[in-house]
Amino acid sequence: MSILADDDPARRAGAILSIDLGAIAANWRGLRDAGRATGRPVDCAAVLKADAYGTGAAVVGPLLAAEGCRQFFVAHIEEGIALRRVLPEPPIYVLNGLLPGTEGDFVEHRLVPVLNHLGQLNAWRAAAQRFNLALDAVVHLDTGMHRLGFGAEDAQFLINERGRLRGLRLALIMSHLVSSEEPSNPINGEQLSRFRTFVRAMPGAPTSLANSSGIFLGPDYHFDLLRPGAALYGINPLPGQPNPMLEVVTLQVRILQTRQIDAFQTVGYGGAWRSARPSRIATIALGYADGYFRNLGNRTFVHLAGHTVPVIGRISMDLVTIDVTDVPEADCQPGAIVEILGPHLTPDILADHARTNAYEVMTALGRRYHRAYVDRFAEAPADETGEPA
Ligand SMILES: *Cc1c(COP(=O)(O)O)cnc(C)c1O
Repeated sequence: MSILADDDPARRAGAILSIDLGAIAANWRGLRDAGRATGRPVDCAAVLKADAYGTGAAVVGPLLAAEGCRQFFVAHIEEGIALRRVLPEPPIYVLNGLLPGTEGDFVEHRLVPVLNHLGQLNAWRAAAQRFNLALDAVVHLDTGMHRLGFGAEDAQFLINERGRLRGLRLALIMSHLVSSEEPSNPINGEQLSRFRTFVRAMPGAPTSLANSSGIFLGPDYHFDLLRPGAALYGINPLPGQPNPMLEVVTLQVRILQTRQIDAFQTVGYGGAWRSARPSRIATIALGYADGYFRNLGNRTFVHLAGHTVPVIGRISMDLVTIDVTDVPEADCQPGAIVEILGPHLTPDILADHARTNAYEVMTALGRRYHRAYVDRFAEAPADETGEPA
């Protein structure tokens, strides 16, 4: 992928984050098809919270709507309001639910709150009466996460008093899995059985249980609607196994300066790395202010011209140092491109080095990067003969 064309605004950027929209679309189609594998009409939503896991909800939302995605989830109402501007029609569900006093904002922007407890249900029902509208609602059942959602007692109350929902249209009953990335964990089956018991007692509404990894637990977990987030953006839903998804992000950062140092010299704050031999050190335009975690110092590597190059010393706010002693000098001149994320080092691998998960790597992706949307499936540029170059 060339990012150095003379007319490319990325020319002056210190760091370029490329987001492959073709890969996101293909990942969504793959998950949708997994839901349809048994012939039941399972729908596939898209979870776009945290700016579509750092990839840009305002771009990814319309992209997936064009692919046929008809339902969207965000966490915050503000995310829903922003998404509504680019997606005028489809349902947008707000997972964090209804904060007191925000009912009018939900109605104004036609957002659907995920109702997490009886208080929210009562408030939403009162809003339906006040605005004289049959408002859509999602009921979130807690089957074991113990964060948000109707607990067992409130759920039983709702089953006994379905009239509590009068005036609302129950658009979805959902629950969320605790450990879906561990297929052999018995909590999966326990949550499945609690969810089944509840939806049997509340017939008629569409149902949803599976996040990305949950989809791979099999059709029992699919219900009517899949709710993938991570897998859309290339995060491996099957830890420890080959990633069935296409990688989405590439992060390329430029060398700012390369210098020669003697043996036994330290590099960076705190002298946290010391050269064992005369060394060449390159400093690149990246730091913890860009979401490159500070604990990656002395603990990960980057790629440069076919070489694996260690990250050395502390991560600074805006700078990272790498040991390029074994890279030919011609390949580490100022302006040269270093691969931070890409084919050699995926967000899942970087997450391992940082002792976190790829979700955090993705959602921390910096706001200072030049963002380039690309499409690996777009036709190759044609040369003058009209043949692909
Ligand atoms: C974030 C979230 C999802 C998506 O989960 P992934 O593991 O990213 O696929 C689905 N449902 C709920 C309730 C969520 O909070």
